[in-house]
Amino acid sequence: NQAKQANKILDWYTPDLEEKMAWRLGLIRQLRQDFELHKLEVWYQPQFSLETNRVIGCEALLRWPSGNGDYISPGIFVPLAEDSGLIVEIGQWVLEQACKLQQQLSTQNIDISVAVNVSVPQFKVSNYAEQVKNTILSHQVAPEKIELEVTESVVMDEIKTVIETLGELKSFGVEVAIDDFGTGFSSLSYLQQLPLARLKIDRAFVKGIPDSDSGAIAELVISLGRHLGLKTIAEGVETQEQAQVLKKLGCDEVQGFLLAKPMPKNELLEFLGAANNTERG
Ligand code: C2E
Ligand code: MG
Ligand code: MG
Ligand code: MG
Repeated sequence: NQAKQANKILDWYTPDLEEKMAWRLGLIRQLRQDFELHKLEVWYQPQFSLETNRVIGCEALLRWPSGNGDYISPGIFVPLAEDSGLIVEIGQWVLEQACKLQQQLSTQNIDISVAVNVSVPQFKVSNYAEQVKNTILSHQVAPEKIELEVTESVVMDEIKTVIETLGELKSFGVEVAIDDFGTGFSSLSYLQQLPLARLKIDRAFVKGIPDSDSGAIAELVISLGRHLGLKTIAEGVETQEQAQVLKKLGCDEVQGFLLAKPMPKNELLEFLGAANNTERG
C-alpha cells in the first residue's frame, strides 16, 4: 500500500536512486491528482495557554488520505510538494480553509487564532503578501486571527525579501511565528529584524524534559523569547511533567498530544464548543 511504501522511502530502504526517483515522481503525480480531486484534508491541532488552560489557537495541518483508511505523512509529501512547486497552490488552499474555519468560529463567538504553515516556495511568489491579504480580506476575517508559521529555512532563504514580505503582512495585522525554532542552526541576528509574535519550541527539545540537555535548550528559547518580547509555545508536549516544567520555566503556550491531537474540522468545532462550556460552567 502507498502509505507503507512512502514510509519506506523515509527509512532509506529503497535499494537505488533510480527507484527512489521513480517513487518520488509517482507520488508527486498522485498528490497533484488527489489535490485536484479535492481529496486533501486540513486537520487542526488546538493550542493552549499555560496560564489559563484555555484554547488560544489551533494549527492547520495537511492530511493526505491514501485511500485505504490511513494517511501519508506530511513529513513525506510536504517536501515533495515543495520540490515540485505544488505547495504554492496547496498552501493557498490551506490558507483559504483556515479563513473559512475562522468565519465559522466567529459565528460561534470563539475567539482563537488559526496558524498556517508556509514553505519557502510560497514566499518566492512575487506578490505573496498581496495574495495573503486578498484572501483574508475576501473572507472578511480579522487578520490578527491568522498566524503564519515559517521555519528558519524560510527566513534564511532570502532574508531581505522575507523581512519585507513579513513586514507588509505584519502591518496588515497577520501574526508570524518561527516554527521548529532552534533546529535550523541559523544566525540569531535575524530575530531582531523580523516582525515576530511567537517562537515555537521544536518538539525535539521538549522531548528531553525534564532530564536532559534538550530541556536546557527549551529553557534558553523561553528566556530568549521573554527578552525579545515574543510569546513562546512548546510543540510536542506529551506528558504532564513536560507541561509543568514548561510552565515553571515561563513558557506561555503548549501544543501536543497530552492536550489534543490534530483533528478534522468538525471534531475541532465540537472540541471547542465543549471546552468553552466546561470553562464557563
Ligand atoms: P510542524 O509545523 O512543526 O507541525 C507540528 C507537527 O508535530 C505535526 O505533525 C503534529 O501532528 C505533530 N505533533 C503535535 N503534537 C505532537 C506530540 O505531542 N507528539 C508528536 N510526536 N507529534 C506531535 P504533522 O501533522 O505530521 O506535520 C509535519 C510537518 O509537515 C509540519 O511540522 C509542517 O512542517 C508540515 N506541514 C503540515 N501541514 C502543512 C501545510 O499546510 N503547509 C506546509 N508548508 N507544511 C505543512
Ligand atoms: Mg507548524
Ligand atoms: Mg514545528
Ligand atoms: Mg516543521
